[in-house]
Amino acid sequence: MSLKVGELNSNLPQGATDNIAEAWTNHKFDMKLVNPANKRKFDVIVVGTGLAGSSAAATMAELGYNVKVFTYNDSPRRAHSIAAQGGINGAKNYQNDGDSVHRLFYDTVKGGDFRSREANVHRLAEVSVDIIDQATAQGVPFARDYGGLLDNRSFGGAQVSRTFYARGQTGQQLLLGAYSALMRQVGAGTVELHTRTEMLDLVVHDGAARGIVVRDLVTGEVTSHSAHAVVLATGGYGNVYYLSTNAMMCNVTAAWRAHRRGALFANPCYTQIHPTCIPSSDEFQSKLTLMSESLRNDGRIWVPDAFEESRSAADVPESDRDYYLERKYPAFGNLVPRDVASRNAKTVVDQGKGVGPMKNGVYLDFADAIGRLGEDSIREKYGNLFDMYERITGEDPYKQPMRIYPATHYTMGGLWVDYELQSNVPGLFCVGEANFSDHGANRLGASALMQGLADGYFVLPYTIGNYLADQLGDAPMNSNDAAFGAVEAEVQDRTNRWLATNGTKSVDYYHRELGKLVWNYIGMERDENGLEKAISEIPALKAEYYKNVRVLGSGESLNQSLEKAGRVADFFELAELKARDALAREESCGGHFRVEHQDAEGEADRDDENFQHVAAWEWTGEDNVQNRHKEELEFNYVKPSKRSYK
Ligand SMILES: Cc1cc2nc3c(=O)[nH]c(=O)nc-3n(C[C@H](O)[C@H](O)[C@H](O)COP(=O)(O)OP(=O)(O)OC[C@H]3O[C@@H](n4cnc5c(N)ncnc54)[C@H](O)[C@@H]3O)c2cc1C
Repeated sequence: MSLKVGELNSNLPQGATDNIAEAWTNHKFDMKLVNPANKRKFDVIVVGTGLAGSSAAATMAELGYNVKVFTYNDSPRRAHSIAAQGGINGAKNYQNDGDSVHRLFYDTVKGGDFRSREANVHRLAEVSVDIIDQATAQGVPFARDYGGLLDNRSFGGAQVSRTFYARGQTGQQLLLGAYSALMRQVGAGTVELHTRTEMLDLVVHDGAARGIVVRDLVTGEVTSHSAHAVVLATGGYGNVYYLSTNAMMCNVTAAWRAHRRGALFANPCYTQIHPTCIPSSDEFQSKLTLMSESLRNDGRIWVPDAFEESRSAADVPESDRDYYLERKYPAFGNLVPRDVASRNAKTVVDQGKGVGPMKNGVYLDFADAIGRLGEDSIREKYGNLFDMYERITGEDPYKQPMRIYPATHYTMGGLWVDYELQSNVPGLFCVGEANFSDHGANRLGASALMQGLADGYFVLPYTIGNYLADQLGDAPMNSNDAAFGAVEAEVQDRTNRWLATNGTKSVDYYHRELGKLVWNYIGMERDENGLEKAISEIPALKAEYYKNVRVLGSGESLNQSLEKAGRVADFFELAELKARDALAREESCGGHFRVEHQDAEGEADRDDENFQHVAAWEWTGEDNVQNRHKEELEFNYVKPSKRSYK
């Protein structure tokens, strides 16, 4: 199998296998630099203004590069990152409870079920401490303890407290910090900001990324933009499941279009299903709400012992309750990692022990914590989450347990990138949730904000210089060039086709039907039979979608169903690839649980001999099965072992 552009070379730094603690420092020294006066000669496009995009754009502009930023949101502050609640990890060891860079590295490699690159994860753990300093200096109001130091709480998969937080609004506060830094550069004229503008394609010419084609969501105008390098910071694609905790607009289009132009797509089957979401309340719901993992610090998860229990929670005595996580995993209890907590919730609900009107939840109970710490203390830590829960369910969680159930939350898969965060298409970089790096088969809580900001503030600003240094003296391609014109025409054709289809069913109808297939066959548990069904049913539904979707309105004004039509079309292709990836991965690891591969206790059964690799898929054309490439993973510091939280 041949690669179309670039090579699958992870460009590991010297020392990755025998001196990991120094590898990033040495690599920074080895990389080429662009001197301050020359930085002004380079243009960089950044798509996305979440934590990853805003931090990357602000930092590169501060360094002196000319940066053009694009977002489909009406303000950078509306990026999905604003929704992050619980916190951000940093190996500061303020608690003096045994944390260190090495322990964060160890926990993350193990938490990812030994399916991530050691060198990347070590770098992430190293720069985690700088992120906290950077955010604090920007004025991010992290919670403080009684002595004035920054406070920490625990998240799943760790036995230390290393999660920094700003009540239940950590993402919002961090984004305000990154946004302020970004807007300072907009004011200084080093960042050109394009809001309400959607990237609909990537332009690759002579084997390198040259720019993007975008559509103005208000006027419908399609235009081209060129640069020396393109950075995608376009977030995750959990909405392929239709119901998820992601913002409604999150989608895969930017990454998928880059994939179709030659960028490899890695590990699409790794999805994180978060254990603590509010269960759905009817068939027509369009969004699920997360209750932050931080709640598992003080909440205890249980179900009644009896099947089809009809008593209210308060009337079920202790002796008739099953605190199943504490029983099965005494060492980590309610703070087992997300994949483990989610699967266990599914098991008890499938057994018929679910609670709530639709019997589709488990309890998250704060009675003990309120008794021990007092209601005021719980309110101080989680007040906004409790209020949100009450507004949505009409139930008061100070008085009765919350009901929770797993929901799609985060996508570990994404565009394949090397150690420098560059895809196999030279000049195309990818940061934040949109890339596949760092989290392996399962992301630990509070590590996404850490990774997005690590990429944006501390990694990409260095590594992009290593690429650009070689382009000194080259002007970016002219965006009037025929290569751009051809892509613009394709974008325009695709937009027009949705308006012309004139079918009978809405885009949302097909998205919901697709979501059901993805959830049922590629959800918390997968098996061969279901995956085969997904591989045949998804293309059939896609074919119907192309013939029968109905998009009203015009292409010359704001038209949200037109925007969504293209995104759902890309979800169809991604969904099929997810199923193929899950089928090919004949093992269970992290968020990928194959029913055929479990041990006697029902835990994930990894196959290191055959699957200790990243699967990176290559687009091979419309209606063709894609090529699966492998990046073998080596573990020299954290020896693969059976992940146990008992
Ligand atoms: C409810 C919730 C709570 C969470 N809580 C936590 C937490 O406590 N701790 C933690 O570590 N993680 C948490 N996460 C995960 C974390 O929030 C995300 O992984 C992270 O914020 C992603 O940041 P990002 O910058 O990569 O992408 P995003 O914040 O999703 O930003 C994507 C950007 O790309 C733009 N974009 C996308 N496609 C296009 C396009 N085609 N054209 C133009 N612009 C485009 C969007 O406009 C947006 O600006 C949570 C996730 C959810 C859903």
